[in-house]
Amino acid sequence: MFQRVRLADSDPCPCGGGLYGACCAPLHRGERDASTAAELMAARYSAYAAHEADYVWRTWHPRYRPEVIHLDDAVEWLGLNIVETQAGGVDDREGVVEFEARFRDGDGSAVMRERSRFARRARRWVYVDGDVEYS
Ligand SMILES: [Zn+2]
Repeated sequence: MFQRVRLADSDPCPCGGGLYGACCAPLHRGERDASTAAELMAARYSAYAAHEADYVWRTWHPRYRPEVIHLDDAVEWLGLNIVETQAGGVDDREGVVEFEARFRDGDGSAVMRERSRFARRARRWVYVDGDVEYS
């Protein structure tokens, strides 16, 4: 078993939004909440990449989330591209974010495309579910 090193604040954020310490780290640490569905989507992507399983779990709608989040060490996340967003803004209660995430695993490189649904619960955005395609 190897232990993955946690990201430093001075590392590039996996979501592509700048330095980790000024981008998704404060969300992962619970210092602030995502203000839009797209921001939550990017922070959840970064959490997968940075192995912040706890963040993935707590930003998942309780009715839809698995009991345990399993992050596969064999998957390396290579980049995120947000394709489209619908609603999900600071005044909305629901939102949809479509994105592409490139990754590499034991079978090579691939792209995951997901249309994710988000909802606001107790003023916080949470991930509900999504339709996923691989190519
Ligand atoms: Zn980020």
